Amino acid sequence: MNICVVGTGYVGLVTGAVFADLGNDVLCVDNDAAKVEALRAGRMPIYEPGLEEMVTRNVGDGRLAFTTDLQAAVRQSDVIFIAVGTPPKATGETDLSQVEAVAAEIGRAMDRYKVVVNKSTVPVGTGELVREVITRHQTRPVEFDVVSNPEFLREGSAIEDTLRPERIVIGAPNQQVAMTLVELYAPLERPMIITDLPSAEVIKYASNAFLACKISFINAIANVCEVAGADVGHVAKGMGLDSRIGREFLQPGLGYGGSCFPKDVDSLIHTAGRFGYDFRLLRAVVEINHERTPHVIGMARKALGGLEDRTLGVLGLAFKPNTDDMREAKSLEVIRRLHAEGARIRAYDPVAMDNARPLLPPATGFCGSAYEAAQGADALVVLTEWNEFRFLNMERIRAALRRPVIVDGRNLYEPERMRRLGFEYHSIGRKAVVPG
Ligand code: NAD
Repeated sequence: MNICVVGTGYVGLVTGAVFADLGNDVLCVDNDAAKVEALRAGRMPIYEPGLEEMVTRNVGDGRLAFTTDLQAAVRQSDVIFIAVGTPPKATGETDLSQVEAVAAEIGRAMDRYKVVVNKSTVPVGTGELVREVITRHQTRPVEFDVVSNPEFLREGSAIEDTLRPERIVIGAPNQQVAMTLVELYAPLERPMIITDLPSAEVIKYASNAFLACKISFINAIANVCEVAGADVGHVAKGMGLDSRIGREFLQPGLGYGGSCFPKDVDSLIHTAGRFGYDFRLLRAVVEINHERTPHVIGMARKALGGLEDRTLGVLGLAFKPNTDDMREAKSLEVIRRLHAEGARIRAYDPVAMDNARPLLPPATGFCGSAYEAAQGADALVVLTEWNEFRFLNMERIRAALRRPVIVDGRNLYEPERMRRLGFEYHSIGRKAVVPG
């Protein structure tokens, strides 16, 4: 099939690469000329395991190409995916200006029947809006259909998730249009849900909001464990083995960040409000999430008897492991606040430091390894659960630190092991380990 994917970011680039890998002819479009130039030169704009190999292979085989020319790409394609950003406005409402701009251009370029697929995360009703914008910008009336096909990939495992999604959601106006998407996805042999457009749009927000609920729920339970002397790790395991609950997303810590959960939860609250429903449950989820950063900073302040003039080694900057994405990363908020309280920061992240540098206070120090970050610090603070931090030589870390204090915002280590290694260890929802 001839496909074009508009927006060559985390979602668009991965989607385009995977569709090409399945044997389709794919044109990836972006209005960021530097990004398109870099991709043509074989440089990936994002860090994503397995992406570069897949892009290189498909470009080499002539099935994948990059362009800034949306109009030409639309004319060449049967199916057009919209995968541009849908950032939040200050009110929590979703900013649909990128989607609308693309829809207008698609309308202007449309010369024959096309299927336009919304892959961006958009509030319920946006499919209708896209249809209306395209129609308004057509130079002559041409038939087309709009489909909703929300994306569920996770950064850090985006290729794997796109090749083996747990479900493919197709919201289409009729069975015939749905079949175009079914045919496209058929080689993946994964479960498909075929529904109407509004339901598909809601499925995406309901899923992300539910996962955010799980995170805030376990963080609230962690608060109870801390005062009650219970261990939230054991509690989460005991809950998660119940198949009705499941073990995933029951990791207590600094709470959710990233480019999706915060904005999607806010957007659903806003959309519900617009329809006259006050989504109190989600407002509480957001509030609990906001309390996580001050909570972890409070742990560090208490452990060190204040933060003024203290040096803190920070492990992890990306919003989660295996990505260089810094959008809404908790580290930004944590480090800004630590700075404001007079602490000095020595930070290390395996891949996100280049993206983090312009976003952090200029005084932030960047280090070449976790050991360097620990060197001479009064405490080590874990902000992202990168796997390499699990396997550090902790004796070397202890020797590098000025004081053997770890504040673990992601519960990466076993308290008992930290005790044996001679650390003072503070983690979430578990008893602190204080030597002596
Ligand atoms: P992104 O910011 O990485 O990529 C968006 C791309 O669109 C950018 O490269 C930008 O230059 C391009 N763009 C913007 N306006 C354009 C225009 N008029 N013409 C051509 N290109 C244009 O965003 P992303 O993370 O890939 O997210 C895209 C959508 O997918 C969002 O709605 C997001 O909520 C959703 N989503 C993201 C993820 C994720 O993990 N990142 C997962 C599921 C869904």
